[in-house]
Order: sequence, then C-alpha cells, then structure tokens
Amino acid sequence: MDKSYSQLLTDIESGEIISIILIPNRREVVVEFTNGETNIIPIFYNDQKILRLSDEYNIPLTVRDIQSEQRLANFITGFGFTLIFVLSLSFLIRRSTKLLNNLQSFSGRSLEVKDDVVKKYTFDDVAGLNEESDELREIVSFLKNPQTLIDLGAKTPKGVLLVGPPGTGKTLLARAIAGEADVPFFSISASEFVEMFVGVGAGRVRDLFKNAKAKSPCIVFIDEIDSIGRQRGTGIGGGNDEREQTLNQLLTEMDGFVANNGVIVIAATNRPDVLDRALTRPGRFDRRIDISLPDRKARHKILSVHARTKPLCDSVNLQDWATMTPGFSGADLQNLLNESAIYAARNNKSIISNIELDKALDKARFGLLSKPLSDPTKKRQIAYQIIGKTLVALLIPTQDKLEKISLFKSIGDISGLTYFTPDEETIDSGLLTRSYIYSKIVISLGSRAAEILVFGSKEVTQGSQRDLENVYFWANQMVTKFGFSDLGPIAFESERNSIFLGKDIMKNRKEFSQKTSKKIDSQIIAIANNAIQHAITLLSDKVSLMDTLVDELIVNETLESEYIINSLNSYLSTT
Ligand code: ATP
Repeated sequence: MDKSYSQLLTDIESGEIISIILIPNRREVVVEFTNGETNIIPIFYNDQKILRLSDEYNIPLTVRDIQSEQRLANFITGFGFTLIFVLSLSFLIRRSTKLLNNLQSFSGRSLEVKDDVVKKYTFDDVAGLNEESDELREIVSFLKNPQTLIDLGAKTPKGVLLVGPPGTGKTLLARAIAGEADVPFFSISASEFVEMFVGVGAGRVRDLFKNAKAKSPCIVFIDEIDSIGRQRGTGIGGGNDEREQTLNQLLTEMDGFVANNGVIVIAATNRPDVLDRALTRPGRFDRRIDISLPDRKARHKILSVHARTKPLCDSVNLQDWATMTPGFSGADLQNLLNESAIYAARNNKSIISNIELDKALDKARFGLLSKPLSDPTKKRQIAYQIIGKTLVALLIPTQDKLEKISLFKSIGDISGLTYFTPDEETIDSGLLTRSYIYSKIVISLGSRAAEILVFGSKEVTQGSQRDLENVYFWANQMVTKFGFSDLGPIAFESERNSIFLGKDIMKNRKEFSQKTSKKIDSQIIAIANNAIQHAITLLSDKVSLMDTLVDELIVNETLESEYIINSLNSYLSTT
C-alpha cells in the first residue's frame, strides 16, 4: 500500500521503519518497514526533516546517486553496442574476403576432371545395346588408329549426343568407347560447370578442353548436358547469364577444334527437346544416338551381365525375371540384383533365390512397404477398394497382367496395392488405343465403385485419391492431347509448348478460348462419369464374390493373381 509523506513521518516516530534510502535527484525515499514491506515515498526538495528525524530515531539512512549509476549503465551499454558493431564488421569483412578468394581460386583453378583409370569397360559390359555399340565402333577405330582414317580423308564427328532415359547405360557406353580404344576418359557433369559467379563456368570449360587436348586422343564425357545446353534466351526474366556464358564457351571450344585432333566429346541427356539448336548443328554434337529402355531380350542380357558376379540358385531363371520387369532400365535391373544379394546376406544365405529376387522386385516397384492398417473397419473398407479395382481390371481386360494384390501399402499411401505388369508390346510401341486408355480410367474407378455398392455413396472414402488423380490425368490427355473426345481430333496442348523451356510462358499457356476451355472441362467430367457408371455396372452383380475375396484378403493380407482369376471364373460359371 502506498504511504503518504505525513504517514512516513508518523512511522519514523513510532519506530516502524528499519532503513531509508534517500535518492535526492529523484526527490524520493525508499523505505523498508518492520513488517517487511518496502515503499517509495516522494519528499520535498532539500528535505531536511527526513534527515533530522532519521538521525533522531537512529534509523540507518543511505544516500544513492542515481545519476552516476545511470552514467555507468549508459557507458556499459554504449561500449557493448560498439563492440558488437566492430565484431560484425570484422566478420563481414572476413566473409567477403573469403568469397573473393574462392572466386579467384574458382577461375584460376584447373577443373579437376580425372582420367578414370579405376576400371576399363568394354562393349561386352554393355548388354543389349548392340546397334548403338556398332554405331560407335567407328569412333573407337579412329581413336585407336587415326592415321588410316585421315589418309582416307575421313573426319570423325567432334561430338556425339547420347539420348535416353536415366539409367539406360549412356555413361557406360561412353566409358566402353574409351576402354575399347584404350584412351583416357574425362568425365564431368555439366551441372558442375555452373557456379554462382558469372564467368566461372566458362573458365572451367576452357580448363577442361585444355586438359583434354594435352592428353589427346581421349574422350571427354559431359553428363546432363541439358543443364547448361538449354535454349538460350528462354529463361523467365532474361535467362541465366552464367549458364549462357558457359554454353557459349563450350560452343567456342568445339568450333576451335582442329579437325581430327583426337578429342571426342560425348554428351548425354534425357531432355533433347530443350537443347539449344546451336549445340546439335553440324560440327558440334551432330551425331545423335538414341538409347531406349531395354526390351525383354536386352533385359535378360543385362541381368546376365550383372549376375556374373552373383551366386544364383539353380531355380532362378533370368528369362522369367526379364519378363517380369518391363519398363526397368539397366540401372534398375542392376539394382534389383544388388538388393536381392543384400536380402540374401541379411538372412545368412550364401546364394540368391527367387524369394530374395521377389522381395527386391517388390521394393523396386512399390518402395518400402508398411504394415496394413490395424483398425478392422478401415482395413475392410480398403480391402473392398482393392478387390473392386482388381475385379474391374479382370472384367475389362487390357493387355496389362495382374500380378498380385496386397493390404501392405507403400509408405505415404493409405490404400493397399493392386499391381499389374504393363504390357511389353504397349510399352515398346508407345501406341495407346482410345479403348486402352478408357479402360485404365474405368479400372482406376473400380475402388470407388466398390465402395459405392457396398457402403453407399455417402460413406465413400478418399482412400482412392491416387486413382482419382489418374482418372483426371488420363481423361485430360484423351481430350486435350489425343483427340479422343467429342471435341474432335484436335490436340489443344502440345509438348512443344513445354513449360520446361521457359519459352514465352505467358503466350503459350493456353491456346484456346474460354468457351473451348469449358467444353474441355465438360468432356473430362463426362468421361469420368461414364467410367464410374461402367465400373458400377461391372461390379453390381458381384458383391457376394467381393465379400468372399475381401474376407480372404483380410486373413492372408496378400492374394496372388492366379487365385483371384480362378475365383472370378468359377463365380462367373455358376451365375
Ligand atoms: P543417367 O542418365 O542417370 O546418368 P546413364 O544412362 O548414364 O544414367 P549409366 O550411369 O550408364 O546410365 O548406368 C547406370 C548403371 O546401370 C551402370 O553402372 C550399369 O551397371 C547399369 N547399366 C545400365 N545400362 C546397362 C547395360 N546396357 N548393360 C549393363 N549394365 C547397364
């Protein structure tokens, strides 16, 4: 409780005060009472009465000079700020000096592209790429014996562009050329050229070619050429100066080659569509070799090459594994065998059997699998989704082959797995019929159709979200790209307008009117609605079969394709 001045005087006289602190420049006293309380009480200017009374009643009185305390505090704070300022300044100076040094060392330093002497590869290590290897033998013979070709007046290409999906053996092929010709192999990824400082990449290109010329004849391999070789002047906001300067330097270096100087540049990309045309004109990367995903025969050869160093059980038939892996690249196949070897080692086995290969294949297809949901109600709902989709897929045959279904799920996914091996011929040809794509949409809606039939349309779940995304993807492609709708044989969108090029992004965003856009939307919706009705019709008289298969799936967690096909056939024959 705040006390008044007169109360203070009374309290001094009645002996209720232990001590007084006088602060003259604030004209107040801090008073400590016998009951433990402390109070700040204002006093008069030059108050003599307080001094007299405290002296009279023997109350200890201290005088505090706040101004000098404040001066000290101000001094300490000021000093602290100055210290922080000086430290920050010196930190900034040190950092910028370091960056400057780095820049100098980047441009001054020779790029460390090492001649790969670890292992020599030959065309025997490259399986299933016979035609591609044959195309490149000419380069090998030039590197091995240049004079013969020079005498005949022949010129070898300066640059070879290897084009193909990731993991199809482009690097391997380039290494094999160097190995066959027994010449040094310099390899670098184009993304390593590009730094945050403009001009460093160009300097590195100069260094690379200087080194290569000194070691001629040799192979220079530039991986991911698209990361510097994209069409110039296409970047949003004016492009990337560093990338463009690096590309210009590369073009200049290749132009500066004396014919037949023994340096052959091999570049690899999986995005040939984005490459600057200047790169592919004669005198630069004018020889292009396309490498596609391996077919069944090639997959068998690749598996055989990588199985050389792995002890396989007699029952393992690599032909079968080649059949089961359409769409796999060489790297995927190598990985399949590696993973199976790891599984075998983990189980203390000395040879690899079909069991380990099967596990490795599941991992390659689905990633790591997690246990099914434990909640019985949700598990049942997911089981109906899986069985619904599977039965629709069997009733509306595409060429894709049902492998297995499982309640185990991929990490990050809610629903289980329904796995089909894509049809080899369809993959190889790249030709998709209208009915094939429509069937894919109906199959994707099999899980939703089963939920509607069993639980009612108000109780459907979002568990089939991935399938619904596929429905939109395919329906959109049918209408906007393939001319598979009532809007006629028109592609409203084309690959040429690809955003990746960053070219005229605003202009090419949409090339059709709003009216057409609405028509496209209604066509997509109509396809989806037809497809769900189709799926419901296919399943409506098979609810009891679904019930049985759902019970079995819940008990076993996984069902093989043969079992489901037999169950469906016997059901159809009895109804
Ligand atoms: P990226 O485009 O991702 O750089 P890439 O096409 O250069 O891939 P590589 O690095 O050559 O592919 O291949 C990766 C691995 O896959 C190789 O180490 C090799 O073991 C294996 N591989 C790929 N294709 C073949 C093949 N045709 N024969 C044997 N092995 C292959």
